[in-house]
Formats: sequence, structure tokens, C-alpha cells
Amino acid sequence: MTAFLPPSLCTHTPPCPTADSPDREAAHVVAAHPEQGWSLLCNGVLLFEDTGELLPDGRAIAPHRPVAAAA
Ligand SMILES: [Zn+2]
Repeated sequence: MTAFLPPSLCTHTPPCPTADSPDREAAHVVAAHPEQGWSLLCNGVLLFEDTGELLPDGRAIAPHRPVAAAA
């Protein structure tokens, strides 16, 4: 599955947090591309491995969690 998917992929019960929710990262991953460093969540959020996010409405969220730093 390589196509960019529409934002309404959530078929989970209870529904996952929406892209507008502070808990948006708790949604399920529906397409993981670790080789490209991102995952698509079922609420349409693109979650990058540095914890940056791209919301379905085009907003970008800066990385907000420290990544395990190489010593
Ligand atoms: Zn879901």
C-alpha cells in the first residue's frame, strides 16, 4: 500500500483520537514506512520517527519528544 490514504481510515472501536486531539499519536498505525522514517495513523496523521507530525489538514507539528540520542 503506497498510495496516500484519505484521513478517515479509522474503523476501530472505540474510535481512535482524531487528528485534532492531543492524543492523536495514540491512533493505530495503518501504514508504516520505517525505511522512510514515517508512519500513517488511522486518523490521517503522518507520524515521523523524530516525533514530528503532519496533520491531514496540512499543519506540521514540530518534533516534541527527545529521540534516543546516540551517545
Ligand atoms: Zn483507529
